[in-house]
Amino acid sequence: MRNVVIIGSGCAGLTAAIYSARANVKPLVIRGLEAGGQLTLTTLVENYPGFPKGVQGPELIEMMQKQAAEFGAEFMEGNVTRVDLARRPFVLEIGKEKIETRTLIVASGASAKMLGLESEKKLLGHGVSTCATCDGYFFRGKEVAVVGGGDTAAEDALFLTRYATQVNVIHRRDQLRASKILQDRLRRNDKIKFIWNSLVADVLDPAKGEVTGVKLKNVKTNEETLKPCDGVFIGIGHEPNTALFRAQLEMDDLGYIITRNGSKTSVAGVFAAGDVQDRVYRQAITAAGSGCMAAIDAERFLEAEH
Ligand code: NAP
Repeated sequence: MRNVVIIGSGCAGLTAAIYSARANVKPLVIRGLEAGGQLTLTTLVENYPGFPKGVQGPELIEMMQKQAAEFGAEFMEGNVTRVDLARRPFVLEIGKEKIETRTLIVASGASAKMLGLESEKKLLGHGVSTCATCDGYFFRGKEVAVVGGGDTAAEDALFLTRYATQVNVIHRRDQLRASKILQDRLRRNDKIKFIWNSLVADVLDPAKGEVTGVKLKNVKTNEETLKPCDGVFIGIGHEPNTALFRAQLEMDDLGYIITRNGSKTSVAGVFAAGDVQDRVYRQAITAAGSGCMAAIDAERFLEAEH
């Protein structure tokens, strides 16, 4: 029987692990399919306090994991396939293995959203990508498109200029949502071109097994055009990884877990931290902060039972 199990090993989960481990409750962290979370898919993080020159996302995660392990947090690789939160101890199933725990911290984060096109699905990993920092290198000397107008799309586009000859930012409106500093950097970069008021209607060419271009639809004129390119990066945001908790934890209309009084969910003894419960801020530092809150809440919950 565990005192604290943490689902998720991103910024929120690892901060919760550091706090729980220091409180001597021996947390178990379950590292899932996207271990390390979104920071492992990024490069330089410039807004995490304490690093005046910035820090590489994967390095920051590695340091947090070491810090948690230093205090006695345990780690397990695995994909949680089922949870039963109807009674305590809570039961988690990881394949054939069952784990019982007195408290649970859900820090399962959010994953990249897709456009929902058949062609996009077929070409994923063959020219379509959701991770510029993972796949940008493959597009040296090529022309690519980035879909979206937020910070993710802006960062992806800037990163891709290291390799690509031209980066076309395709956005469905005529104004970016990205932060001002990133917008300025985009506009100053000669390799970046904007295609406004446009949706990707199709990605070509699944029959060839590679990306040859995108079919665009102008939302104002309904005109369809073809933009040849060699790669498409989808940067349209993320959705919370909460399918496992549906009908067990209270969620909002977008599937984010609702927390009240700090990190408390609708089930006593279950706490949530990070992007899984945050549709507003979604920053590394806010995720870390909420991980700390969840660990303290779980510790107090355990204490109150004794
Ligand atoms: P976001 O802010 O929600 O932006 C998503 C973008 O994709 C929007 O421009 C949206 O268009 C567009 N979009 C959404 N669905 C679409 C669809 N089906 N087809 C075409 N376009 C679509 O998401 P994000 O960029 O991932 O950022 C999420 C949060 O993380 C934000 O709070 C952001 O500040 C933060 N973040 C911060 C950093 C950083 O500080 N360095 C880096 C990455 C992310 P509309 O504008 O028309 O809605």
